Amino acid sequence: MSAGTHTAETVTLERLPSGVELSTTVHRYRGAADGPTLYVQAAQHGREINGTEVLRRFHDAVSLEELSGTIVAVPVANPLTFDRVSYVTPEEFDSVNPNMNRVWPGDADGTLHQRMAARLWEEIEGADAIVDLHTGSPDMLPHVVYREGDDEARRLATAFGTDLLLSEEADEDASEEWHRRGFAGKLRVAAAREGIPSITPELAHNKQILEDAVETGVDGLLEVCRYLGMLPGAVPEREQIVARNHLGQVTADESGLFRPDPSLAVGQRVAERDWLGTVYNPQTYEPVQEATADRDGVLYALTQESTVAAGDQLASVALVRED
Ligand SMILES: [Zn+2]
Repeated sequence: MSAGTHTAETVTLERLPSGVELSTTVHRYRGAADGPTLYVQAAQHGREINGTEVLRRFHDAVSLEELSGTIVAVPVANPLTFDRVSYVTPEEFDSVNPNMNRVWPGDADGTLHQRMAARLWEEIEGADAIVDLHTGSPDMLPHVVYREGDDEARRLATAFGTDLLLSEEADEDASEEWHRRGFAGKLRVAAAREGIPSITPELAHNKQILEDAVETGVDGLLEVCRYLGMLPGAVPEREQIVARNHLGQVTADESGLFRPDPSLAVGQRVAERDWLGTVYNPQTYEPVQEATADRDGVLYALTQESTVAAGDQLASVALVRED
């Protein structure tokens, strides 16, 4: 029996206007035994760097002797946004598709982001499962998003092991907003359409390496490998809350300063009409909105960035589908 191999290959994603080649590193872990192929990437939104740290630690944690199958890992899927510590690419590079996670599976003759995605798609299309690592705001409960009704993706999400799972309706089941915002071009959605079960962990905190979030990510990847039979061991039984994505968002009716209820923490259960905080006029101190939960559920995001404009999101309360 062979010991397995690890290779790191530099792949050119696209050429920039100056002629400089935009490249990234693709790690390939081939196990000692045959098995499925798992594709994992991080930082297609470049400020979401916890996923990159997760892959560095995973690199140290994974045992090639124990591995069955192949793991393909891309720690910096989008070097442009990574260097800019941003969510989207500068207009100069791609004014048509500034968000890389709206263009999958890409287009080799399209805009910069479409071409980058098309090149990475070559690494992806043979995979049996996909984990696309993202991170959320500092004030968000880590969770995994999967396509509602996709049982295989649901099992991957369960294996990853966060306390909260969010199902998202897609394509013909999805809302007008989902289509308008181009969510059909998310990697997870495009992959599911090709029959590759896929999940999007949203670890907490962008721009900072947050120890808890990173540990959640490393453990989650190892559990996904165990679930797929790529590493020995069984995935433990879990108690998880399943809720639906993109619902229960409480937004600012008026602009001002938002002071969240200091006793609230993400992960807490709230009831419909529970007080979440106050938006006030910073000059007159006059309250302009008492924000309340619009449903019973789990509070999974509560903004701590207090200067809010009308329409901004203040909180998210996930409707619990299963306990
Ligand atoms: Zn993201």
